[in-house]
Parts: sequence; C-alpha cells; structure tokens
Amino acid sequence: MSASAQITTCLPPNTYDAEPIPEAARAAIDAMLQTGDLFRYTAPQDSPVSLLETEFAATMGSRYALAVSSCSAALFLSLKALGLPRGARVLIPAFTFAAVPSSVIHADCVPVLCEVGDNYRIDMTDFEARLDSVDAVIVSHMRGHTSDMDAIMALCDARSIPVVEDAAHSLGTTWHGRNIGTIGRIGCFSFQSYKLLNAGEGGIMITDDADLVARAIIMSGAYEHNWAKHLAHGDNALKAAFGRWQNKLPLYNLRLSNLSAALIRPQLDEIPRRVRDGRAGHDHVASLLEQSPWLTVPAALEPEKRAPDSIQFNLTGMSDADALAFAKAAADRGVKVQIFGQSQDNARAFWNWQFIEGPVPELPMTRAMLSRACDTRLPARLTRQQQDAIAAAILGAAEDVMGDEARAYGT
Ligand SMILES: *Cc1c(COP(=O)(O)O)cnc(C)c1O
Repeated sequence: MSASAQITTCLPPNTYDAEPIPEAARAAIDAMLQTGDLFRYTAPQDSPVSLLETEFAATMGSRYALAVSSCSAALFLSLKALGLPRGARVLIPAFTFAAVPSSVIHADCVPVLCEVGDNYRIDMTDFEARLDSVDAVIVSHMRGHTSDMDAIMALCDARSIPVVEDAAHSLGTTWHGRNIGTIGRIGCFSFQSYKLLNAGEGGIMITDDADLVARAIIMSGAYEHNWAKHLAHGDNALKAAFGRWQNKLPLYNLRLSNLSAALIRPQLDEIPRRVRDGRAGHDHVASLLEQSPWLTVPAALEPEKRAPDSIQFNLTGMSDADALAFAKAAADRGVKVQIFGQSQDNARAFWNWQFIEGPVPELPMTRAMLSRACDTRLPARLTRQQQDAIAAAILGAAEDVMGDEARAYGT
C-alpha cells in the first residue's frame, strides 16, 4: 500500500486563517475606543505599547525592546541605529524575504548576497569569503531555520562586524537553549498575521545596547522628550544616551499604535503552546513526508529547536516539469505548496529582487535549492487529522507525478 493511502484522511484544512485573538484583548480595546487613546505617547506612562515592550523584553531575556510598525521598519532602524554610513555593505543570505534587501536599500546601504545551502542555512564557506568586504551582517532565520550562529558570531566578533538577526518568522526558536534574536547585537520580529504573534501588522526589536536602542527610539518617532516614557524603570545608561542624541537624529515615525499592542499582549501567554504544538505538528508531518522517495526534510543543525508554523522540504529526483506538476497535483488535492524558485515572481527568489542595482548575482547553490524547495503552511492550531490530510495530499501529489513515471520506465 502506498504511503499516502495508509493515512486516514479528511479534507485538507484552510491553513491561512489565523487563530482567534484572545478574549482578553477585547476589554482593553473597548476601553481604548471609549477614550480614543491610541497614540503610544499620549499617556504619561504605561501605555499598551510601553507595557508590550517591557513584557516582550522580559519574555526574550533582553534588556530593551522597541515596538515599531513592522519588522521591515525594525531592520531599517537597526541599520540606522548602527550608524552605518551611506553605501555601507550589508551581507544578507540570498534566501530571505524581499523586505530584507529592501530594508538595506532603505537605509542607503548596499545588500551583498551570500549562498544558502539545500538545508536552507547560510553556506559558511561563502559567508566567510565575503565577510571582509562588508560592514554589517543581517542573518535571516528563514522560517526558523537557523544558520550556524556559533560560527557566524565568532567570525563577525573577530572582525567587529555587527550582526542583526532577522527573526521575523522565528519567534520561539532557540539555539543552545537561547532565544533566537538575542544572539546578535539586535534581534527583529514581525507581528504580521502569518507570524507567531498576530496584530495584522507590527514589529519589535530587542537589544542589550543602551546607546543603540536610544538612537532607534528617537528615530522611530520619540520626538521632543517622549523618550522619557521609555525610562519607566529608571536606567541611567539609557537616560545618558538620550541626552547625547537629543535633536541629532531624523524622525522616521515608525511607531506602533496602542491598538496593535493591545492585540499582541494577551498573545504572549500563548507562545509556549504555539511553539509546542507547532513543533509537534511539524515533526509528525515531516516523519510522514520522509516516507516518500521523492521528498526530503533537511535536518536542523544540532543546537536548534524550531517553532514551525509551516514545513519546508526538497523534491528529489524531479525535473523542473515534474516539480511544477507536483505543485499542481498538490493544489488539485487541496494543499497549496509553493516552490520558492518555481512560482512566478516569488518574493523569496533573489533573481526577483531587481530593485537591487547591478546584474542579478550568480548564486548557483541558492538557485538550485530554491528550484526544489517547497513550503506549506502548517499552523499550530491544526488537529492531527488535519495534519494527516495535508501529508496525504503532498505524498499523493508526489505519487501522481513520479509514480507514473517510475512505472513508465519500468523502475
Ligand atoms: C515576514 C518577514 C519579514 C517582514 O516582516 P514585516 O513585519 O511584514 O515587515 C522579514 N523577514 C522575514 C524572514 C519574514 O518572514
């Protein structure tokens, strides 16, 4: 019996709906609608945005957090807060979301792409080869897949190159038990609806560096003395830094609204469950997909524990035509599988980042990976039966395409 037929199935679920926002958000939002108090700097202290920052920093184990309008804004502010001059070169993985090179360009810097292997992680040989020509590094932990942070930090620390972690879609992932986003100088996260915490839009950056966060706070739009509202717990290093930077920095106004903070705060308690269920569901589906000779789920590096809300796997032994036929067969069976490098205009395929000046770089390793790397959403809320239905559709799609081929060639 085929692998897909062994699983009892129901219809594949809708994987794009988010979880309901916890009931506790309702009272806070109702009160805000009464008072109209939506701006983070109206109240003298303890606005929902400020409270979110305190709670998020505590959750992550970092000293400071600054909530902003998106993770892209957090990445942009990180580069500005690092004081990178115009034209500075910023190394980024060639497998990331288009928002990452965009934030580099927004900060008047130049993105430099490095190769990513077929396990979705930065190729350390290519990384090291490019490192001496760059001024900063953004590591994108794509879907939580964590590159070798021990090697990256050792190489960058030795050259005093600052590392920003793009953990937009990696909240809850740990490396040697430490939260992703706390390893580099700055960590950035997203509250866009497809991420672990959902406010529709929003982002947050964390750091232990008082001078850096003071610069970011001012540039995010803490005009005049609004920065004082970030000093709830008295912090002399931070206060001194605000003094140094008063009136010296542009205001980009990338603040978060109290409404968004009220949506996020009650979700912080949900993180452990979403991490646990997401990981269990992912590992269950991965073990089913591994039964197919045409699908591989790359292994994580040993120190990583991921918090997946999707699954990535590679097609093996398939041609381009087979890969496209596979994606179509999966769609026909009710499951959307995107092949990063095959779907038209995909925002995670580096050759579509044509807003970067100059010719599209030659990155054969990343290109080969993207042409066979598949992505399917697997939110933490799915039941075991729904996970089985998704796995069955994917396994069945591979058989639809390759089973026939194997028979035709008598193999
Ligand atoms: C979602 C995402 C971003 C952008 O986050 P926004 O909050 O939408 O700006 C950046 N990088 C990665 C890896 C992402 O998944």
